[in-house]
Amino acid sequence: MNSIHPDERGYYGEFGGAFVPEMLYPNLTELRKHYLPVIESNDFKKEFRLLLRDYVGRPTPLYYSPKLSGEHGASVYLKREDLTHTGAHKINNTIGQILLAKRLNKKRIIAETGAGQHGVAVATACALAGIGCTVFMGKVDMHRQKPNVERMKLLGAEVVPAVSGSQTLKDATNEAIREWISHPADTHYIIGSVVGPHPYPDMVARFQSVIGLEISDQLKEKTGKKTPDYVLACLGGGSNAIGAFYPFIDNRVTQLIAVEAGGKGIHSGKTAASIALGRKGIIHGSRTYLIQTDDGQIIEPYSVSAGLDYPGIGPVHAYLHDTGKAKVVNVTDDEAMEAALWLSRREGIIPALEPAHALAYLRKMKFRPGDTVVVNLSGRGDKDMSIYRQYLHR
Ligand SMILES: *Cc1c(COP(=O)(O)O)cnc(C)c1O
Repeated sequence: MNSIHPDERGYYGEFGGAFVPEMLYPNLTELRKHYLPVIESNDFKKEFRLLLRDYVGRPTPLYYSPKLSGEHGASVYLKREDLTHTGAHKINNTIGQILLAKRLNKKRIIAETGAGQHGVAVATACALAGIGCTVFMGKVDMHRQKPNVERMKLLGAEVVPAVSGSQTLKDATNEAIREWISHPADTHYIIGSVVGPHPYPDMVARFQSVIGLEISDQLKEKTGKKTPDYVLACLGGGSNAIGAFYPFIDNRVTQLIAVEAGGKGIHSGKTAASIALGRKGIIHGSRTYLIQTDDGQIIEPYSVSAGLDYPGIGPVHAYLHDTGKAKVVNVTDDEAMEAALWLSRREGIIPALEPAHALAYLRKMKFRPGDTVVVNLSGRGDKDMSIYRQYLHR
C-alpha cells in the first residue's frame, strides 16, 4: 500500500478489510477483480471524463473568497462542488460506479440512503444510463426527507421503505445487502462514501480524486504553486475529504484537516464525532473507528447535518489520523450554523450544512499572512433551507 491506496486485501494499516457474510463473497470477489482494470482502461477514462465535464459540470471553479481571506488573514479559496449537477460531490462517485456497472453487464442498481442525497445522486446516474434503480430508505427517513423521496421517484427510481429496527439508515443498509445477496449476478450495489468492505473505499476515493486533482491544477494556474498550505473538508464517511486531500497526502507542506460533526458537543451524548470519541471496531464491513458502547453496541449518531450523521468513518481516515497525515477536529451544530449564515450574507453563497462545519473550523485556526487555504465546499444549501429557517426564527 501507499498512503492513499490500500493493500490487496483492502487494508490501510490496520484499518479496512472486508468483513462480510460468506454469501457476499462472490459479489465482492467479482468487484475486486474488475474494478481497477476497468477504471484504468482508456475507454472508461474517456467516457468518465466527458460525463464529468458535460453532464456534471466539471471542473468546478476554485473561487478566491475576498471576504474569508480578509476575515482570516490568509488567501482562502472555496472549491465549488456546490455547483455540480444535483448540488454536491456525490454525483462524481455515482457516475463512476454506473459506468463500472455497465461494463460488468449489470442490469439493475441498488443503493441505500439516509437523508436521500446519495439516493438522488444514484437515481440521477441510473436515469442517465437507462438502468433500473431501487433505493432502500428507512421509513422514518422517508417521512423526514420527503422532497428527496419525490425527486428519486421523479427520476424513475423505486424507493423501498425499510420497516425494521429504527427504520433509518442502518436498516436500509441491511435491506440493500439482503437484496444484493439474493441477486449477485445482475445487480450492482452503489455505496455513497469511502466506507463498506474492500474495494468500495478505494473505488469511491478514486472517483472523488478529481476534486483534489482539479484543486492542484487550478492553484497552479492562479498562484503558480500546486500545493496549498491547508486543505479543509467535512468528514461524514469521508468521500469529499479524501477526494480533496488526494494529491496532497504525501507532501509535507500541506496540512490536511478533516472536520467531524460535534453535534451538540462531543460529551453531550448527541454527536457524530467518530474519531474524537470512537474506538476501533467493525462497521458495515470494515475495521475503523466508530462510536460504540463498552460492550460494542453502535451508538446512534447525531448531527444537525444529515450527511455527517454516521457512526463510523472511512478506514482511510482512521489510518490518516493514526499516522498523523491528517488532523481530525470537530465543531458543533451551532458553530456550523453560524458559519453557514456568515458565508450566505458575506459571499452570497448558501452552503450545505456539512461543509459549513469545515468553514466553521477556520475561526479556530491561526494563519500566517501569505498562507494558502482551500476549503472544500462539498454541496449547496437548498436541501437545508428548513433547518436554516428554524435557526433564523428561534
Ligand atoms: C453526503 C454529504 C457529505 C458527507 O459525505 P462524505 O462521504 O463524508 O463526503 C458531505 N457534504 C455533502 C454536501 C453531502 O451531501
